[in-house]
Amino acid sequence: MAVGWHRPTKLVIDTQAIKENVCNEVKRMPQGTELFAVVKANGYGHGAVQTAKAAIEGGATGFCVAILDEAIELREAGITEPILILSVVDVSYIELLLKYDLSVTVATQEWLEQAIEQLNHIGTQIPLKIHIKVDTGMGRIGFITPKEVKHAVALIASTKMLAWEGLFTHFSTADEKDVSYFEKQTQRFQAILSVLLELPRYVHVSNSATALWHPDNVGNMIRFGIAMYGLNPSGRVLPEVYPLKPALSLVSKLIQVKELSVGEGIGYGNTYTTTENEWIGTVPIGYADGWLRRLQGFSVLVNGEKCEIVGRICMDQCMIRLPKQTAIGTKVTFIGNDHGEEITMQMVADKLETIHYEVACTFSERMPREYK
Ligand SMILES: *Cc1c(COP(=O)(O)O)cnc(C)c1O
Repeated sequence: MAVGWHRPTKLVIDTQAIKENVCNEVKRMPQGTELFAVVKANGYGHGAVQTAKAAIEGGATGFCVAILDEAIELREAGITEPILILSVVDVSYIELLLKYDLSVTVATQEWLEQAIEQLNHIGTQIPLKIHIKVDTGMGRIGFITPKEVKHAVALIASTKMLAWEGLFTHFSTADEKDVSYFEKQTQRFQAILSVLLELPRYVHVSNSATALWHPDNVGNMIRFGIAMYGLNPSGRVLPEVYPLKPALSLVSKLIQVKELSVGEGIGYGNTYTTTENEWIGTVPIGYADGWLRRLQGFSVLVNGEKCEIVGRICMDQCMIRLPKQTAIGTKVTFIGNDHGEEITMQMVADKLETIHYEVACTFSERMPREYK
């Protein structure tokens, strides 16, 4: 996709904020714990490679991604730290896992058996690094019973082609006030640990929410995602343990400003009609950029003042109502600070009736990311 470098609309990413968020977490982690920065989905829309580099400066010692291609992207960019792929990779790609020195998640006995067959076929000299995933109540991927895990461990131990590097689980309610389900999952993981005679190098259970609100949990590595980008994992539910610094802003500029008389229609479907003489500004951002149509009626900032988005948001442009005549080229802030006012990702998420995670991932490739 063509990136809009020659248009004023851009995502501005504050890499210093990412570094600080990581650094603040590293400072409060128990001794001997490592922080792996989660940079899946293009670093939650912030840019995977640049985020990863900022995270290293903040003290991250490894990375997690969702898919093989994201891991390869990091390696191709020169990142040499351990990288764990959090979801299942088809065994037919094992040669790539070895070539790029990647660690992979194992969720079933079938995968292990097929992997051994494949590794035999390749005749590998180096072992494949694996992390055993335990499903303690997320219901997504992973071994469920202690017996299943023991079988997997035994199979791994039976061959030199596999290196058991990690054991982990994932919580589904670590960002909630009610801790009962969290505790149930913790107990299940403890039951798994108690039947194992030895443990791998990494035992990890913590996403951002677990790291922030359950810091005493078991494990020696945390998978730090959303909080690194400066966003509260719980949305508005739990208070931040320390101030998280949002890394992303979204800005553009006015490309046209006009005064319309009363009774004029704005945008497709003529869903907005001026009720008096109004100053209407046009901004070059639309739903193709991930600024979704449902954001009609939401406000943006111009010179520190809130301006309503009026009329339907188009594919590439939208219109806002200005309080007064404003110069073409004036900055428009969709997310971020302007003259002491702020529009947060959470506010956008509220308007869209979703979570900021989804908002961050929805920004399209067409918007350039500028790093500072
Ligand atoms: C995405 C993901 C994380 C990171 O979660 P955050 O809430 O962003 O910290 C951690 N672990 C797994 C398995 C994940 O899929």
